[in-house]
Amino acid sequence: MNKLLILEIIISLFCHSLYAQDDSLILPSAPEFLCNQQKLAVPPFYISDEYEQGDRIWENFRKFENDKIVDKYIPRGSIVYTPEEMIGTEGSTGRVPVKILSVPSKENEDRIRNSKSNRRNSIEDKVADSKSLKGINRKRVKVNDIGWIGKASLKEAKNHTFMVTKDSPIYKSPAGTAISDKQITLSYDDTGYDVLRCCTPDTFNGPITCFDRYKFILQDLEGNDLESFYVKNLECSFIQNLAPISNTIITPIKSILNLMRVESPKFSIDELELLPSYQSWSGYTSRIKRSEMAKMPYDNETSQGPFGSYHYRPDDQQNSDAYMKPNSQCALLQVLKKHQESCTTAGCQVQLGDMYHHDNWGSHESHDSGECVDIRPFRKNDDDNAGLSYTQTSRYDREKTKSFIKLLRDSGARVIIFNDTQITARRLENHNNHIHVCFGENRQKVKNTCKNGFAE
Ligand SMILES: [Zn+2]
Repeated sequence: MNKLLILEIIISLFCHSLYAQDDSLILPSAPEFLCNQQKLAVPPFYISDEYEQGDRIWENFRKFENDKIVDKYIPRGSIVYTPEEMIGTEGSTGRVPVKILSVPSKENEDRIRNSKSNRRNSIEDKVADSKSLKGINRKRVKVNDIGWIGKASLKEAKNHTFMVTKDSPIYKSPAGTAISDKQITLSYDDTGYDVLRCCTPDTFNGPITCFDRYKFILQDLEGNDLESFYVKNLECSFIQNLAPISNTIITPIKSILNLMRVESPKFSIDELELLPSYQSWSGYTSRIKRSEMAKMPYDNETSQGPFGSYHYRPDDQQNSDAYMKPNSQCALLQVLKKHQESCTTAGCQVQLGDMYHHDNWGSHESHDSGECVDIRPFRKNDDDNAGLSYTQTSRYDREKTKSFIKLLRDSGARVIIFNDTQITARRLENHNNHIHVCFGENRQKVKNTCKNGFAE
């Protein structure tokens, strides 16, 4: 396909479209067009991922004028458009021209950039201009940028749920519902995406033009449908404020959001720091080596966390050792919430240590799963940030520790290690001064705890 034609198609998407509106999804009536419902195999847009980048959170973005030149990077999880004509022509191979419709939070990426990098596989290694890639300086793509990316790095829209980010304007649905705290999915089934195809009528004096409006479904955080509406492909309004979440993790992610909103009612999806998966490639087929993780939301200044918890000895100021797989993190949040309901005196603070720790970072070998966390024993009457062994009987509070470990067990955790012989747990050397717990990302009981909490 000729580049000029591609450019024409892509440029025609800019915000000067007849049907663009500033802050509304409502389509003006267009009596000159005739519309009917259809099914389309082609999605309205794609989610950018990576191809053979290793454990990195970006993909190369090549100059539109010359795809041999990489001058920018595109963060994984960006929403991009590519003309229908470009997809399906060469299998998974080759590059396609895309236009950027949305990019993930720069703030979260900067936290990764500012994390400590003195070990192989540091979190910091994952950014485009990491110290291990010194000398390579690429700009981050912006909305409306046009360039080329590898086709194999594109993921289909239908496998994602879209959540509206925090700083977006107050968009309203056609029925007048504010969409800011909702989720949005595309209307889709095995036969394709639901669209409204509108064309100029035969009587129209001029060339016939058609366009497709994809059907979107607005849902509450429980996943109940609220309403549906047709949006002209890439309407200039709300797409750039959508954060795509893979459907494989949407359930625990929503539960985490709901739990965070117990204390911070306005907590938004872009405040949750998500780390994309680590995939390995064989040809154009990817295999997940480490699935996506979410970072426990700690205050970087005070190390205070949800439900009165505290992060002791963080690896760095960014709390880079606080990532966990979503169901595991979510079950831990439920434990923290439940614990806080009954334990409120001094000594009740849950002091949390390392979560995900790559094997190459030394120590904490079993923390490579992203399902485990270390927790200090509880104290009789202090919440001092100081280590404690169960043998220090004047300070150690066995009853509090015992009931907390019971909560961990009830949550479905697969491993609990702690050396106090008066408490039921697995024993292992070096576990006098902390409880080591692993939840288990795929355990049904852990998933249930995440979704429903504890029975009263
Ligand atoms: Zn541990």
